[in-house]
Amino acid sequence: MTAQPFVIVGAGLAGAKAAEALREQGYTGPVVLIGDEPDLPYERPPLSKDYLTGKAERDAAFVHDADWYTDHDIDLRLGQAVVEIDPDRRTVTLADDTRVGYARLLLATGSSARPLRVPGADADGVHYLRRLGDSDRIKAAIASSERMVVIGGGWIGLEVTAAAREAGVDVTVVESGDLPLAGALGPELARVFAGLHTEHGVTLRTNAQVERFTVDGSRVSGAVLADGTQLPADAVVVGIGAAPNLHLAAAAGLRVRRGVVVDSALRTSNPDITAAGDIAEADHPLLGPGVRVEHWATALNQPAVAAATMLGRDAVYDELPYFFTDQYDLGMEFHGLVTPGGYDRVVYRGDVPGREFIAFWLRDGRVVAGMNVNVWDVGEPIKALIRSGQLVDEVRLIHPDVPLDQILESEETR
Ligand SMILES: Cc1cc2nc3c(=O)[nH]c(=O)nc-3n(C[C@H](O)[C@H](O)[C@H](O)COP(=O)(O)OP(=O)(O)OC[C@H]3O[C@@H](n4cnc5c(N)ncnc54)[C@H](O)[C@@H]3O)c2cc1C
Repeated sequence: MTAQPFVIVGAGLAGAKAAEALREQGYTGPVVLIGDEPDLPYERPPLSKDYLTGKAERDAAFVHDADWYTDHDIDLRLGQAVVEIDPDRRTVTLADDTRVGYARLLLATGSSARPLRVPGADADGVHYLRRLGDSDRIKAAIASSERMVVIGGGWIGLEVTAAAREAGVDVTVVESGDLPLAGALGPELARVFAGLHTEHGVTLRTNAQVERFTVDGSRVSGAVLADGTQLPADAVVVGIGAAPNLHLAAAAGLRVRRGVVVDSALRTSNPDITAAGDIAEADHPLLGPGVRVEHWATALNQPAVAAATMLGRDAVYDELPYFFTDQYDLGMEFHGLVTPGGYDRVVYRGDVPGREFIAFWLRDGRVVAGMNVNVWDVGEPIKALIRSGQLVDEVRLIHPDVPLDQILESEETR
């Protein structure tokens, strides 16, 4: 009798990295990686950055080329959706009714773009950005549009805005909050990004709601806001957030809250099933329970821990959340977690108007998050400051002559 395989549902970054990690950790048994998209597993960040702007080729987004899966004996099944998990029989069922048994299961089903439900939202020319094909369509829309409306001032909306502006398109961003990105960063840094975009000629409509889209034939021709403002557009991009794909896990009786609840070893409420990436709501040794982020780095790094757990080894996922963006000539990296009410001050080291600085979010005198903007190779000391949980001297923290990696040392010896 052949051994039951290790099955991975969701062939995105987390799924592909889990297959890789199983092989790297010495597992030689069968691995089945099932994904409902037609493309090889790929990374999504380029879809709103270099791939969208035409600076990177499609192949650069793939986690591995096709040969890698063959060479590593990974049974990659693309274009196939898993529709059910039976945890008692340890099987998953595909849309064509095929059943696949598993010894261990990893769920890495990721997220889907949140739909905007207003009249006209299904017209041609209204785009979402989650998949490679979406990026192709938006690239074509940018090339053929004079005016574009972007709904939602989150990361994806602003990255698409930057790509469109660089191509000379007039862009209006419609944001329901006071500032774009305020939910992710708080108002202080959100202002920096708002300034970046207005300086590049973007029209920001904040505290604004889209009521409907106007349609000419079957094509979108503009957006109408709740206050009656009409915004003509050749194309619309909706970026109002993503929702984790939790349906399978919930239907299988796994514990689900904002994500699939996992312990620090990424084990779900069923010991045979692990979860990683966007869907995992994990116990974090430093940050506490219920940590779920939609970050590339989590999908990259959690699978090694999930693979170890599947192999019955001890492992804990304790990486700090890490995120990055590129917009115009601004590149930034963000470490840590900022939640509303989770910090009391933001302090800056460097040149904020010149957009070359590090921002630190502080709570009770301790660093909870740090963002380096056009400053590089400072990730390790920023992480060390957050991890230490120690009181920091703000004057030294923001002083450009005090090396970041000496701030803690001097605290200890003071
Ligand atoms: C345009 C864009 C830009 C981004 N830029 C950044 C960035 O700059 N920095 C950053 O940190 N993060 C970024 N992100 C977020 C990052 O890409 C995600 O956090 C990451 O893709 C999560 O990986 P994942 O493998 O968990 O999920 P996904 O990448 O969503 O992959 C999950 C896969 O599972 C498939 N699937 C779902 N259900 C089933 C099923 N029932 N059966 C079979 N297959 C299924 C999905 O179709 C998908 O292919 C960006 C996301 C997008 C969309």
